[in-house]
Amino acid sequence: MKQIVIIGGGIIGLSSAYYLQKAGHLVTVVDKGDFSDNCSYGNAGYVCPSHFVPLATPGIVWKGLKWMLNNRSPFYVQPTLNRTLLNWGLRFARSANARHVNDSAVPLRDIALLSQAEYEYWSTIPNFDFAYEHKGLLEIFQTTAAAEHAHHIVETAQSLGLDAVLLESTALQQMEPQTRINALGAILFKCDAHLYPNKLMHGLITLLKQKGVKLVNDSCVTGFESNGAVIKKVLTVNGSIDADAVVIATGSWSREIAAKVNTKIPLMPGRGYSVTLEDAPYRLHHPAILTEARVAVTPMDGNKIRFGGTMEVVSTTTPPRYQRVQGILHSVKKFFPEFDIPMPSADRIWYGYRPCSADGLPYIGRIKSYHNVVIATGHSMLGLSLGAGTGKLVSEIINEEKSSINLKPFAVERFG
Ligand SMILES: Cc1cc2nc3c(=O)[nH]c(=O)nc-3n(C[C@H](O)[C@H](O)[C@H](O)COP(=O)(O)OP(=O)(O)OC[C@H]3O[C@@H](n4cnc5c(N)ncnc54)[C@H](O)[C@@H]3O)c2cc1C
Repeated sequence: MKQIVIIGGGIIGLSSAYYLQKAGHLVTVVDKGDFSDNCSYGNAGYVCPSHFVPLATPGIVWKGLKWMLNNRSPFYVQPTLNRTLLNWGLRFARSANARHVNDSAVPLRDIALLSQAEYEYWSTIPNFDFAYEHKGLLEIFQTTAAAEHAHHIVETAQSLGLDAVLLESTALQQMEPQTRINALGAILFKCDAHLYPNKLMHGLITLLKQKGVKLVNDSCVTGFESNGAVIKKVLTVNGSIDADAVVIATGSWSREIAAKVNTKIPLMPGRGYSVTLEDAPYRLHHPAILTEARVAVTPMDGNKIRFGGTMEVVSTTTPPRYQRVQGILHSVKKFFPEFDIPMPSADRIWYGYRPCSADGLPYIGRIKSYHNVVIATGHSMLGLSLGAGTGKLVSEIINEEKSSINLKPFAVERFG
């Protein structure tokens, strides 16, 4: 039995805590906040093996540069000469090629399927309801260019063994009889599921507490104390915590924490926004991605609908740009003409920071400088989807068990 300290109470930290406690360890999760909000709460809730294409794709850099001039666009990089951003941007641009997209498909599929299987199992745990539904996801498109791309994606998905079919506009409309859809067609990814992230996080916290996991809030980790190549103590603003092993799962803040254990990981925060209608007057049966707008619409937990999107590569201290939410709501109306959603006040808008690795694949594994430290972060747009699976992998690493999947593509120090 080891004393494990997990830094970060997002989905990655909490699911790691779940599997490590299950394996018989004494687990403490420490967070700089109070466990009531982080990127793992307001996201779109997709558990999506369909997302086997990483963020870094051919053409994205050029598109990003064009979109920088539009303050309602779905992708934005803050223009600055900051070295961290330049370093990340260079590696991101180098990864945005067809070979990388091709090489990433199997690793992303494998970790997503592992994770989905774990969520299916979690959904059977008594008193742990997180509104998990496995009914597929629609990727709706309006342009012929997107329709052609959809053909290619469906073929690739099928070759990866994922259940995906193309729908013409009439078949799409039949799937959503209560809502008028303005589209050429859609991909239906039957392989995908979704859940209500807020319920998942609250339920997981309750479950962990019941199992004796210690949650330490408002305790920002500031450093470590070591003995040779072994970390002995985690230092926080409220004192130190003894550790036999440490898991760094600090999301968008992981680059700074990793640097404190002499490890470089290229990582930038990718801010996104969401708005949730608690008792929506609109009806959707399936979660949907509005392809050209890069907007996610998720009916969740009964009558709720969540609208989310935008990817702003910025620092976590940049003030929010709420006009981006206007961009999301405009796009929704273009696809669903009956959805008249007024711009909410700032206090009803959620935003969070996706931890974006430079190549769209997470960093999961031990580090070279300290044998007892594992990093699990960089999940970009997929942290919720890959969350349960990542927790299981972290536990396997710490227990020195055979890994459920090949971890090589996720090596923490792959960028040197
Ligand atoms: C609009 C939007 C929609 C999204 N939709 C989806 C989706 O449908 N499916 C999907 O898979 N993903 C989605 N994502 C991405 C997903 O939400 C993230 O990838 C995921 O939440 C990251 O989880 P995490 O645990 O790594 O980080 P976080 O949830 O951010 O948790 C990190 C924690 O570390 C803590 N921390 C940081 N520094 C310190 C420190 N020094 N000391 C102590 N604690 C510290 C923070 O306080 C925080 O609680 C979406 C994201 C956004 C913004």
